Amino acid sequence: MIKTRIAPSPTGYMHIGNARTALFNYLFAKKYHGEFLLRIENTDLERSKKEYELDILGNLKWLGLNWDGEIIYQRERSPVHREYLEKLLGEGKAFYCRHSAEELAGEQKEQQTNKTVLKHNCDHKDKSLAGGVIRLKNQNKKIVFNDIIRGEVTFDSELLGDIVLAKNLNTPLYNFAAAADDHDTEISHVIRGEDHLSNTPKQILIQEALGFKRPDYAHVPLILAKDRSKLSKRHGSPRLGVAGGTAVTEYKNAGYLPQALVNFMALLGWHPADNREIFGLEDLIKEFDLARVQKAGAVFDGTKLDSINNYHIKQLVPAELAQYLKPYLNDHSPSDEQIIKIAHLFQDRLNKFSEIAQLSAFIFNQPEYDSKMLLWKGASPEKTKNNLETILMILEKLSGDSFDIDSTATEIMPLANKTGRGEMLWPLRVALTGLEKSPGPFEIMEVLGREESINRIKKAAGKL
Ligand code: GLU
Repeated sequence: MIKTRIAPSPTGYMHIGNARTALFNYLFAKKYHGEFLLRIENTDLERSKKEYELDILGNLKWLGLNWDGEIIYQRERSPVHREYLEKLLGEGKAFYCRHSAEELAGEQKEQQTNKTVLKHNCDHKDKSLAGGVIRLKNQNKKIVFNDIIRGEVTFDSELLGDIVLAKNLNTPLYNFAAAADDHDTEISHVIRGEDHLSNTPKQILIQEALGFKRPDYAHVPLILAKDRSKLSKRHGSPRLGVAGGTAVTEYKNAGYLPQALVNFMALLGWHPADNREIFGLEDLIKEFDLARVQKAGAVFDGTKLDSINNYHIKQLVPAELAQYLKPYLNDHSPSDEQIIKIAHLFQDRLNKFSEIAQLSAFIFNQPEYDSKMLLWKGASPEKTKNNLETILMILEKLSGDSFDIDSTATEIMPLANKTGRGEMLWPLRVALTGLEKSPGPFEIMEVLGREESINRIKKAAGKL
């Protein structure tokens, strides 16, 4: 059976790269009717925090990447790790390194100065005396493995030295614990970031020493910013712009839909056989193929994320969109009915929910503008005032109950067609919004309501 896993360390908020790796693991497992496991690698007691673990679990659920079975907490597997370590020590495959931390630091410094490979070949091995870190005896052999994305990869184990397995019997380190856990949970495919490529030969050596079957490997490309450097915090926040940001929660808070983020992340390093760009999770399960994952870094294109999110926002019904928008409009406490109208008004142009506060500001605040802005190309103030007053007369005749796009447009459009659309509709729109660009005047009037629309138009006529 195909079995994959995501193995995050709860030492920080979930990174978008981790979420993308989780997605690829999920898609691959589901495509082959396999299982997708979640292993929390919490062996680093100092850096692991519950807050980060909850962030990871919450974001996986939010994205719809539900894992199979119970969560595997690496720390709880400590007795098993200990048994494996004792086995390796007993068989003489591992040993206690008697070098002090100072000696090792000195050796590393020397290697850095000489620009040679950082490693430790121990000449002070001890099979039985506890104390000092536990290392795997280097067998000096070539390690060759076939990476599904990168093809054949060769490492010379000579360059690895005697790798550290654990700080002591109760404190295994990442490579050892990961190799042990992948084996015991029968992981068939290890799909992870390219930054772990150099860990793979170490894990293979550990598997071989313990007589474990080797899983298949696929190292997915890193996510890069536009300048092709590794995507990091300094590339900005998704709320402020479209440049990037690293934590999944930031994207959630900025108002990206989980289905849009899934859609976008799938395209970070993978592309379908055709040029299709819009996918739901179910389509992705069908279409996803590790063989179509590229080797080169995946550039994060914030504009594309926005347009994908815009697409998914457009698929929502206004009442649903209104629920998403509500938290961003808290400052004005609008009624549910009003939010639905606002949702409808901006649905097509929203790239993310956080934009709604600014887009809709003119609805809640009286527009401030220069009276010149009311004048359509070359139109005189008198003529413009006259047009606004004509509109006022029409609107005053309409009742508040039937004051909607249809009724206002039906009354005003024939006149606008006769007088000139620009001359009638431009000043009307500016009177309502004070903006150069906005949705059309009839839609806006429906949101503002009869009284407020009339007030704003009166104010504008008064300015001329
Ligand atoms: N805890 C490691 C990480 O979060 C797991 C890497 C792996 O998948 O083996 O990067």
